[in-house]
Amino acid sequence: MDLGARLAGKHILITGASSGLGAHFAMLCARHGARVTVGARRKEKLDSLVAELASAGAASARAVSLDVTDEASVKACFDALDAPLDTLVNNAGIALSSMAIDTPLADFDAVMATNVRGVFAMAQEAGRRWRDARQPGNIVNIASILGQRVAGGVTPYAISKAAVKQATHALALEWARFGIRVNALAPGYIETEINAAFFATPPGEAMIKRIPMRRLGKPEDLDAAFLLLATDASPWMTGTYLPVDGGHLCSGL
Ligand code: NAD
Repeated sequence: MDLGARLAGKHILITGASSGLGAHFAMLCARHGARVTVGARRKEKLDSLVAELASAGAASARAVSLDVTDEASVKACFDALDAPLDTLVNNAGIALSSMAIDTPLADFDAVMATNVRGVFAMAQEAGRRWRDARQPGNIVNIASILGQRVAGGVTPYAISKAAVKQATHALALEWARFGIRVNALAPGYIETEINAAFFATPPGEAMIKRIPMRRLGKPEDLDAAFLLLATDASPWMTGTYLPVDGGHLCSGL
């Protein structure tokens, strides 16, 4: 089955696409001929990405302003879409590191506002519009294996990603009747520009040794799972939480 071919002409909205995995997923969709809309707080940061998406083969490439923590911005983002939406990818997320005992409650609130309330707000707005238009819909939440296991120094993040996992199950239950599927992709540790320096340190190297496959993921290691969930190749999948982690969730206790 050619998963990528199923993206051709489909309209995908990806949140938090100015960097990292969001930008990677946007390019993946563009290469397969999707209509790609990318959302970020500073729209101008997306100008060069939009140009790359267009030259990579996107059926259309657009950027919209989006702060997932701001209800008005969420609604404005959907109002700005230029075609019916097929798939929403809730990718925007933040992780603030500190030991729980020292974590300012403001940091806790910021992580929840983006990773939990933001995912819910985007899903709710998409869900309402699909229901009202009597259109099927598809949501892919980017969760994390830290929603299932824990590590030190990222407690609010782990709590937030557990909430994303549970939101995926709960929304799938409520919205199957509307033809709206909701699934989660749960990456393990993926090497990006942001964390490359950490993984070169002794604690970072020790963490890699705890991954059964003994290496970090690359963004492209997520591609097959992303394409499965983001397209109609998975018509009877909803409420699924799909880890892609080199076996990290199975690491020995
Ligand atoms: P990243 O920091 O490069 O990407 C996060 C994006 O979200 C950024 O572009 C940021 O600007 C955007 N964002 C933050 N707050 C926002 C807001 N209020 N409104 C709109 N956009 C906002 O990090 P990443 O590693 O690419 O992470 C992408 C997603 O993948 C996150 O949900 C993250 O939790 C998840 N994830 C990443 C890894 C990893 O190893 N990189 C592993 C598991 C899960």
